[in-house]
Amino acid sequence: MTQIRWALIGASTIADEWMVNAICSQPDGSIKTIVSGNEIRAREFARKHGIPSSSTDLAAVLADPAIDAVYISSTNEKHLPQVLAAANARKHVLCEKPLSLSQEEAAQMIEACAANKVTLATNHHLRCAASHRKMRDLIREGAVGTPLYVRVFHAVSLPPHLRGWRIERADAGGGVILDISVHDVDTLRFLLDDEPFEVSAMTSSGTLGAAGLVDGVMGIIRFKRGVLAQIHDAFTVPYAPTGLEVHGTAGSLFARDVMTQHAVGQIELRSADGVRQIDVAHRDLYVTAVAQFHRAITDGQVPAATGIDGYRSLTAALALVQSAQTGEHVAVPSQYAQQKSV
Ligand code: NDP
Repeated sequence: MTQIRWALIGASTIADEWMVNAICSQPDGSIKTIVSGNEIRAREFARKHGIPSSSTDLAAVLADPAIDAVYISSTNEKHLPQVLAAANARKHVLCEKPLSLSQEEAAQMIEACAANKVTLATNHHLRCAASHRKMRDLIREGAVGTPLYVRVFHAVSLPPHLRGWRIERADAGGGVILDISVHDVDTLRFLLDDEPFEVSAMTSSGTLGAAGLVDGVMGIIRFKRGVLAQIHDAFTVPYAPTGLEVHGTAGSLFARDVMTQHAVGQIELRSADGVRQIDVAHRDLYVTAVAQFHRAITDGQVPAATGIDGYRSLTAALALVQSAQTGEHVAVPSQYAQQKSV
């Protein structure tokens, strides 16, 4: 079995809480080193997770032929230079969302990885949830007839240990839209097999978001085939469950507790046949994502979410930002929309 040898770029919370386990759970995966901007943080992270080395020298790590892939989970403004450096060093790249801060940057990443013939994937975990995959299958099988409307309930309470750059730093891509709405968009594209066409949004700020950073949003996304999706995302809502509803001409799907990192959630289908609870075989979302990324490297399969998926979710999220700022409906750019990546 070909081993995939990883370098982590970023001593982050997501790497600490989820991704180290996701990589180390793979029979063909191991983490060789961690790169951080801070020597002590890198060393501590490596010690905590039993990673054999740590570094502050990204170029040296990328020059190491014993590294096959990198997982980038730095703050968002660092994704672009780190992805470009990794691509130019011919390393496969799994990058966190939002892929970058602008569509031009995301396009640069896609082109650099393509030019260097390495895989670029975006860590949109929700499309790896068994719940969302089950809903997608049901929609494809016609369980709801023609989908007409979707409602996404993704207003949560930002955990205290994450109340840093997300609510303070616009330059790092803070704010709820690039943090949470970007996941909603990806999940909707995945479920509906369709592309966002235009969006409208209103936002709130000031409860947690500092310096005008948005901590809540309600938005509407019109998809190309006509589905209207309503999203509600927030950092400031401690007691609301998450969920997703799909309403079609022949049925409605009600999913509870599914907009989460955890492998949980229930799905109910209501139709002329009555109310049916749907069985879901839950599995760690991030383990699934990394397993698919490995198959992309070793067998030429498509990663769970590609770089183009990251581009498409980012452009729709940026359109939501623009709509909230201008008060206008905003068309979502269609670049890469024809390249089937979902
Ligand atoms: P963190 O704030 O935990 O980490 C981001 C960076 O902050 C790290 O790379 C690190 O820099 C620096 N940092 C970490 N701890 C400290 C500290 N104590 N003092 C100073 N700097 C510190 O970010 P998250 O893990 O929440 O998010 C990282 C990325 O992952 C983002 O792009 C985010 O959008 C994404 N994300 C994705 C999720 C998903 O489910 N797909 C979920 C959560 C986040 P250095 O690299 O120099 O060590």
